[in-house]
Amino acid sequence: MQLTGRNIVGFETFSEGTVAIQSINPATGEALAPLFFKATLDELEYAAEKAEKAFQIYRKKSGFEKANFLEKIAEEIEALGDVLLERYMLESGLPQGRAIGERGRTVGQLRLYAQLLREGSWVNARIDSGLPDRQPAPRPDLRSMERPLGVVGVFGASNFPLAFSVAGGDTTSAFAAGCSVIVKAHPAHLGTSELVAKAVQKAAQATGMPDGVFSLLFDDGHEIGMALVKHPAVKAIGFTGSLKGGKALFDAAVSRPEPIPVYAEMGSTNPVFVLPRILAEKGRAIANSYLGSVTLGVGQFCTNPGILFLQNDKDFMDEIGKNASDTQGGVMLTPGIRDAYVRGTEHSKQYTNVIGIGKAPEGFTAVEPVILHTDIEAWNAQPELAEEIFGPTSLIVEANTKEEILIAAQNLTGHLTATVHGTAEDFEEYSELLDILEQKVGRLILNGFPTGVEVNHAMIHGGPFPATTDSRSTSVGTRAITRFTRPVSFQDFPDAILPDELKSDNPLNIWRLVDGEMTK
Ligand code: NAP
Repeated sequence: MQLTGRNIVGFETFSEGTVAIQSINPATGEALAPLFFKATLDELEYAAEKAEKAFQIYRKKSGFEKANFLEKIAEEIEALGDVLLERYMLESGLPQGRAIGERGRTVGQLRLYAQLLREGSWVNARIDSGLPDRQPAPRPDLRSMERPLGVVGVFGASNFPLAFSVAGGDTTSAFAAGCSVIVKAHPAHLGTSELVAKAVQKAAQATGMPDGVFSLLFDDGHEIGMALVKHPAVKAIGFTGSLKGGKALFDAAVSRPEPIPVYAEMGSTNPVFVLPRILAEKGRAIANSYLGSVTLGVGQFCTNPGILFLQNDKDFMDEIGKNASDTQGGVMLTPGIRDAYVRGTEHSKQYTNVIGIGKAPEGFTAVEPVILHTDIEAWNAQPELAEEIFGPTSLIVEANTKEEILIAAQNLTGHLTATVHGTAEDFEEYSELLDILEQKVGRLILNGFPTGVEVNHAMIHGGPFPATTDSRSTSVGTRAITRFTRPVSFQDFPDAILPDELKSDNPLNIWRLVDGEMTK
């Protein structure tokens, strides 16, 4: 398929702008053809107008119709074949295995949502039957369910060109909810974005979805992104990226005349705690798994374990010292991300000891893993050591006592995950630690590592600020759908004009809370 560099607005394409941008091959520094036209504000306006109109049609589509649409998108993405994989690798510097895996994850989540929609109970239907004879006053008939919010703006993420971008988790959950979507492409992977957008466009046409249910706009500055957040037609935002970017978009959204929710997934250092008994039993093995997790995907995961706490150990540190130099770095996604990594690690080195530097391959944005060590006193004295450094680096913090570990946990800000390694006796002795951590994160992991985020019904990929701007939600897994819905009550509606989900005879055969009891 030929790339055009044109913005996709519903079923049309546009290149009104005079400024063109290109993705960079991070392995070579070469600018990749073709040129992509930066969207103009007029194009955004047109996309918003179309999305608003499309929403009025799309919001009435049944779960089955939306499921067909999502499955068709998955099919069209797969049909792109090697063209998509090759462009993905060129633009991201990520290897083929990762490209195939991420494509699998992307089509998998589209199909998972299709299943959710066909099953139908996700709408959380509740019926409290009317009691016309109740004294002293009759009780009305009240029925509620989740309904879509409207047009959703999505920002493609640099570190997941497929799974968190054009047809990634945010777009998929918004479509599943019944929302139309405008995506602002990430400038790091413009070609991948266009290919996937064409797949979505084709799927929308093939399954009878309205023109404007989906648009993709290119930009490499903040103009289009900010205008998207501020546009009155837009009712919610999905974002994955930096704390600075996410917070700027959040601030803009809450300052609008009509504030809207921003679901921004931002920085997290995913603290790991290794408790004393397991450290004595399996310290060396854990040290090696930890190195694997830190360097996986050149550390460019939001769940990368950036800090590890332990108490008075030698074996673990020896093992890290011995093996860290064998770890592999790699090419980072963009020159900007590489520069931030180098700046961050150089800054941290001033306050810590370097206990291992891994290998860097050849490549324009290539970096090496850096493992750092410090003691609890230095950690407490330097709050900026707690900030995320995106990439293959981690800081080991050595404490002396259980009390110091508990205080360190208490002082943590919000994170996506926290991991604790321990034996059954460790967990008993440190139950307070688990209790503290539950209040800091969206996902608690025992005896594992946080990288590798399953997409399913129970996953929570979220957490208190600054991990996200809304700790009540997840950006991965089917619970993400309610970010783009709101509950609506229908009072004293005759059956004929109620949504099918709320009709008395339950024509969709979904689970509902009827007069306080779950029934089907
Ligand atoms: P980013 O700078 O936050 O950018 C993400 C997207 O948001 C881009 O499309 C960007 O537009 C847009 N954007 C950022 N600030 C904006 C603003 N003030 N107004 C309007 N739009 C704005 O993230 P990135 O480019 O992916 O990587 C930079 C850093 O983010 C990394 O070094 C890393 O620290 C962090 N990051 C974290 C995660 C995570 O999961 N925790 C994931 C990826 C990146 P333009 O690029 O077009 O300007």
